Amino acid sequence: MRVHINQAAIELVQGDITEQDTQAIVNAANTTLLGGGGVDGAIHRAAGPRLLRETSTLGGCATGDAKISGGYRLKADHVIHAVGPVYRKDDPDVARLLASAHRRSLEVALEHGVSTVAFPAISTGVYGYPLHEAAPIALGTTADFLRDHPQITLVRFVLFDQRALAAFEAALADLSRSDPNVQPD
Ligand code: ADP
Repeated sequence: MRVHINQAAIELVQGDITEQDTQAIVNAANTTLLGGGGVDGAIHRAAGPRLLRETSTLGGCATGDAKISGGYRLKADHVIHAVGPVYRKDDPDVARLLASAHRRSLEVALEHGVSTVAFPAISTGVYGYPLHEAAPIALGTTADFLRDHPQITLVRFVLFDQRALAAFEAALADLSRSDPNVQPD
């Protein structure tokens, strides 16, 4: 599924983030930036040991923030390490922090001249964020950013399984109904 916001596109695909050919891929990192399980472990394995050597010099990363490194053996030139929140039901902070992790990733991309970015479904694995709550936040924050920053031309969400893809597809269909800036392909 694909939509447009002015000249930019948001794409949803099922797949593996480590294989993406966008200029940057986003990692669902933790505050240490020293690697972990899930998508973080997969990115470090695919990029090779020089990635950890670099991220260990970055001083960690606050929840809701993002830092950039090289991509090493990946196709992507850069990895943007974003830290999403651990989910807590009925806590308004988690939505704010999840939105912030997406917005900060896109700001960091812009600062480094990156115009194409792939995101995983941040916080929806070990961090427990329900997909149907995370998807509208991820997509809404991205659509708002693209509207104001035409330098970013493609944001691809790479969903690992069919369930995650379906949740993002439903949220993107809702967004294209409610946000006049979001146009179907
Ligand atoms: P978090 O700690 O932020 O919840 P996880 O890595 O546990 O991060 O999970 C985030 C999401 O990434 C989950 O939806 C998980 O299914 C997905 N995921 C895991 N491996 C990959 C991969 N190689 N490519 C894309 N998504 C992945």
